[in-house]
Amino acid sequence: MKNFNYYQPTEIIYGEGRINELGGIVKKYGNKCLLVTTPAFPAVEEQYRKVKSILTDSGLEVAHFDQVLPNPTTEIITAGAEIAKSIGAEVIIGLGGGSSMDSAKAIAVEATHEGSCWDYLFYKKEPTDATLPIIAISTTSGTGSQVTQVAVVTNTEERDKSALYHPIIYPNVCIIDPELMLTVPKRVTAATGFDALCHSFESTLNPGSSEYINTMAFRSIEIVAETLPYLLENLDDQEARSKMAMADTYGGLCIANAGVTLPHGVGMAISGMYPNVPHGESLAIIYPEFSRFTHENAIPEFSRLGRIFNSSLESESDKDAAAKACDEIDGFLQKIELWVRLKDYGMPENEIALLAKQSMVLPDYKANPRVTTEDEMLNLINNSYSL
Ligand code: NAD
Repeated sequence: MKNFNYYQPTEIIYGEGRINELGGIVKKYGNKCLLVTTPAFPAVEEQYRKVKSILTDSGLEVAHFDQVLPNPTTEIITAGAEIAKSIGAEVIIGLGGGSSMDSAKAIAVEATHEGSCWDYLFYKKEPTDATLPIIAISTTSGTGSQVTQVAVVTNTEERDKSALYHPIIYPNVCIIDPELMLTVPKRVTAATGFDALCHSFESTLNPGSSEYINTMAFRSIEIVAETLPYLLENLDDQEARSKMAMADTYGGLCIANAGVTLPHGVGMAISGMYPNVPHGESLAIIYPEFSRFTHENAIPEFSRLGRIFNSSLESESDKDAAAKACDEIDGFLQKIELWVRLKDYGMPENEIALLAKQSMVLPDYKANPRVTTEDEMLNLINNSYSL
């Protein structure tokens, strides 16, 4: 067996109705808290109201920063950090999908350090233990952000999406309450569910993978393959939401300890340049090309993935099953209505070379079982532009 390390400091509180425990949890870290969310809209209004009253009923002082947008920008983080500083926040609570949870993490850093959160990206300065405690409450399944040391932010001026990556931003506690996920619309359910599958699968391909990671990762993939298509037809099915929340959490635990590969580097470049592309959809764009480029260099993982989607591949050789996994991925994307191309989002064709270059800025492509040359990356992006 391969040696491995595994680290996970976040306390995980999982289960229906567990949001009601929030007040007692926050009190362990401080009395003044900043709640970080997107602006309220009908589907989440009641959820935000309930969370605020749980906090105030526990005697906590609460300020609400409700300006997070999908693919949050450095300006949004600065606005949140200003409020955190002005109220003397002792705890930052992120309630929502990856965008809200990541904003909470970045605000916890910016409110306590010189400069902006962009100065604390993974290859720049390290945030210190002055960083405020973070409570993450996930409402999508998902990014896994509730259990990761990652906060993804976009610098609009530089058209760059990158990440703070440091153990100090692991949430101290996360609450995973599937009841909070019942209102997630169909398209977001599909894209976030596919993201969870991608985290799990890419973790198995990353050199940092191990038997420990693979056990969680393939269980997560099985759950997504079985549950997501059903859930998309039954959005208010509590059991299916609960299963997807587990698949999401396994995926987060995997990426926090192994890491992602080429698709995530490309996906970050896509949403950095075109913020109208949601994260999970950016992955759906690149997966068909990525799988065909990679499967021969990762036959055990691709054949296992293919057989989860289609058990009749058990009778095929591993090499053939790995090749057919590419068609299975395509079929799954079509089934969950995420068969998408760059052109669908209004990307200008004359920026293909620029996007290919940007896709090689983050080191994720180097962790892929087959590492692209610049020409190969250009080819992958070209082929993902239109049908
Ligand atoms: P999101 O947080 O951007 O949310 C997508 C949409 O769903 C938003 O409009 C939001 O308001 C809505 N929404 C969320 N919960 C809802 C609910 N319960 N009911 C109704 N609507 C709801 O989407 P996401 O995919 O969860 O997060 C994406 C962000 O997370 C990206 O910036 C991505 O890069 C980042 N990310 C972070 C990590 C990490 O480890 N930190 C991992 C993967 C992705």
